[in-house]
Amino acid sequence: MDQEYLIRKIEKYADEKGVPIMEKEGMNFVTEFIRLNKIKNILEIGSAIGYSAINMALVSDDVTVTTIERDKDRYIEAVKNVKKLGLDKRVTLIFADALEFNTSEKYDMIFIDAAKSQYTKFFTKFSCNLNPRGYVITDNINFHGLVNSDKSKMSRNLRQLITKLERYITFLKENKRFKTRFFEVGDGVAISRKRKDVDDEEDTNKD
Ligand code: SAH
Ligand code: MG
Repeated sequence: MDQEYLIRKIEKYADEKGVPIMEKEGMNFVTEFIRLNKIKNILEIGSAIGYSAINMALVSDDVTVTTIERDKDRYIEAVKNVKKLGLDKRVTLIFADALEFNTSEKYDMIFIDAAKSQYTKFFTKFSCNLNPRGYVITDNINFHGLVNSDKSKMSRNLRQLITKLERYITFLKENKRFKTRFFEVGDGVAISRKRKDVDDEEDTNKD
């Protein structure tokens, strides 16, 4: 079966089951970024049913994606989808809570798209797994336009989540080791790049 058809089927499944996969515009933006910057190995936090991992892997034959998902049913669905697309050699699915999963692998890019309230934790935990001048890309930075909006009518849970996202944005802006740009595509995407001097520092520390 052809790729386009299989991807449309995953989109349809996500729509029907309410799985929050990336919006098309945001997805295209990220895959174009991978293409232009010749990104080869990617770590994704939050696979859901494998939609974004598959799209990223399809950019080029030499792209590999390692992706972590803590929900068993979604993980199983992701495994099936990756197999159907014949990408099981290049997409590695890990069933785990990302905050409990440790790796010493290095990646060109880390894509954060899991629990929005834990974004700062994911960033802090995995940024040491970046190659020099690597990128962290974060999805849903605007959270349906609710970030930096009036919180008075929000439920307590939603208000807490939005507050955490706002704190994450401040954390990115104030982070001296990374330069972050925010893009109004899809649900809002942030691209943070490790600064050159940070890598120099790290190189010096190794000697
Ligand atoms: N990147 C996917 C969508 C991910 S939706 C796509 O665009 O196709 C977010 C997913 O992150 C959910 O399936 C949720 O179960 C998972 N998640 C949330 N917190 C997590 C954590 N701490 N570790 C692993 N997965 C997590
Ligand atoms: Mg998302």
